[in-house]
Amino acid sequence: MKKPLLELVDVHRSYQIGESTVNALRGVSLSVEQGEFVAIMGSSGSGKSSLLHILGLLDNPDKGEYRILGNNVNTLLEDEQASLRNSVAGFVFQQFHLLKRMTIVDNVRLPHIYSGKRGDFRQEAIQRLSLVGLDKRMDHTPNQLSGGEQQRVAIARALIRDPLIIFADEPTGNLDSKNSGEIMKILKGLHDEGKTIIMVTHEPDIAAWAGRVITMRDGVIIADERKAKAELSKAPTRGRDFDIHAAGAGAGWQSGRFSGFMAQAFQAILANKMRSFLSVLGILVGVASVIAMMALGEGAKAAMQEELKSMGSNMLSVRGGSAKIRGATQGAGAVTRFTFRDVEDIAHLNPLVRNAVGVVNGAGRVVYGNKNWSSSLIGAGYEYGTMRAALPSVGRWFTPEEIQTREKSAIIGVTVVKELFGNKNPLGKTIKINRINFKVIGIAPAKGFSGPQDDDDVVIIPVTTAMYRVLGRDYLSGIFVEVTESSKIDQAKSVITELIRKKRRLKSDDDSFNIRDMTEIQKMLSSTTQTMSLLLGSIAAISLLVGGIGIMNIMLVSVTERTREIGLRKAIGARKSDIMLQFLVESVGMTISGGFIGVLTGIGISMILSIFAGWAVKTSLLSVVLATAFSALTGIFFGLWPARKAAELKPVEALRYE
Ligand code: ADP
Ligand code: MG
Repeated sequence: MKKPLLELVDVHRSYQIGESTVNALRGVSLSVEQGEFVAIMGSSGSGKSSLLHILGLLDNPDKGEYRILGNNVNTLLEDEQASLRNSVAGFVFQQFHLLKRMTIVDNVRLPHIYSGKRGDFRQEAIQRLSLVGLDKRMDHTPNQLSGGEQQRVAIARALIRDPLIIFADEPTGNLDSKNSGEIMKILKGLHDEGKTIIMVTHEPDIAAWAGRVITMRDGVIIADERKAKAELSKAPTRGRDFDIHAAGAGAGWQSGRFSGFMAQAFQAILANKMRSFLSVLGILVGVASVIAMMALGEGAKAAMQEELKSMGSNMLSVRGGSAKIRGATQGAGAVTRFTFRDVEDIAHLNPLVRNAVGVVNGAGRVVYGNKNWSSSLIGAGYEYGTMRAALPSVGRWFTPEEIQTREKSAIIGVTVVKELFGNKNPLGKTIKINRINFKVIGIAPAKGFSGPQDDDDVVIIPVTTAMYRVLGRDYLSGIFVEVTESSKIDQAKSVITELIRKKRRLKSDDDSFNIRDMTEIQKMLSSTTQTMSLLLGSIAAISLLVGGIGIMNIMLVSVTERTREIGLRKAIGARKSDIMLQFLVESVGMTISGGFIGVLTGIGISMILSIFAGWAVKTSLLSVVLATAFSALTGIFFGLWPARKAAELKPVEALRYE
């Protein structure tokens, strides 16, 4: 026995509205052959649309069975039903349900996004439009078309997938009689070419176009009449061996699908430019400030590190006396005095030590002409210049000979220059240091203040001159040691300690000398940067949170606003995941573009800060990558709920939404 195309067996459907139940369908049985043109008549509220929705797989019965070509389709999964709608059904609704943002050619080819087929289907869409006589208007938007023309576009859309069945719910309900006639002519023509058509109408003269008229009242069929001369159309579009499961299996993931969503998300964002911009403003500001602040932070860190390096991060300072500052434990005379022999011994500690230099510190009374000034006096060995970054930028450093022969040459700091010479050039001038004549050979590079101490208020002379001629002593104040690698600082410390103890035969608990390094400063620095990045991180988190809530808000509005669009998309075959993805792509698109503009703004701000305020800035790639990644994550996170909300909508209810 041949199976009917569609078959309903004792179908019931009721709606729950608060306390009361509306029984829209109360036991409907019906079968439709391929090639029939069926009109469903009845007064308003008689259950016509409910019946059509079930036939079109937009809704499922509470009770009873629905079979297409003998296959029970109510047991199919939601996504399988969606794919089936896409491939076997074409829908025409009273309200046309065209998407206003798109041109009509895009409207017509829309079902193909969900078909899983490759291609742009523009030609196919134009061909369907020419069937309804609108191919000339393909680049117009629905708003530029009359009602009758819009409905013709909807018919073209229903045809794009060559469906087995066309479902039309009051297709002429919003049209005048002239346009109604035209629409009916088109539908009749489609029937003649082999389409099965099921149409709901309450107008007898519209129903008269059909070959079979089913009349409903209060949820049951009260009449089912075939015209005597009614013919099945002769040319079925598809064979009876049509495989429902293959059609309903659903198209899998397709790159074409995704790029379709991208294009549509882009359209949707552009359709509400101002609104989209305002809603990503939070993200934009957040990302921009994070980028700028991170650039500042990085810049400050880099500057500090540069300075540290110039001070020597792998520098040790060996000095006589206890590490404890003038504590009671310091016994009288328990101070190790260092000599040039010690400097040499330490300098030869290969491969730990790169360089060592002896220094003497004292106070100097400096006189030039009638001006005099007290400054700190440094007696420096030859290596001191490079090791302590003291090589003059103006003038020159001492030669080794000068240091050997206790030459009376001096290099003075900029503060001393200012106090003694004002604007005059000090080079070559003779000054008195502690009443001894010195020749100025250079100006030490400016270092600024370290704490309260002015590092530019110095006079540097050869260490030998300082010891034997100016200060009158035969020992060094201390030794600076440059370790080959900063990772070997601790090792160097203990080796040098060992060496000195051995030479001096000191006990292991002796504290007549101490060795300091820069790690303490480094520790401080890294904890500062840590605090800073924590601060920046929380600012970023807060602004992305605020921005994300903004996005979520606008996406929720968007979902509500586009409920009917979602219904339409589901009707033409969009699966849950498709709707979900479409809205997610949209929210992520917004946050990413917000993030992108934010990154540019942030870089701009930091450039302005560095050019006009002279601040050290350093935009790191990492901050850009992080900011972009986080804005994308924000889009996903805050878009998820609205997207789910959209995806969960039932097609029928979404289509009915006002
Ligand atoms: P028709 O299309 O013949 O005018 P419907 O099938 O739309 O009738 O509706 C039949 C009955 O079911 C009506 O009383 C209607 O109010 C009710 N109904 C239809 N859809 C819903 C729904 N989603 N929720 C509640 N009631 C509904
Ligand atoms: Mg109706």
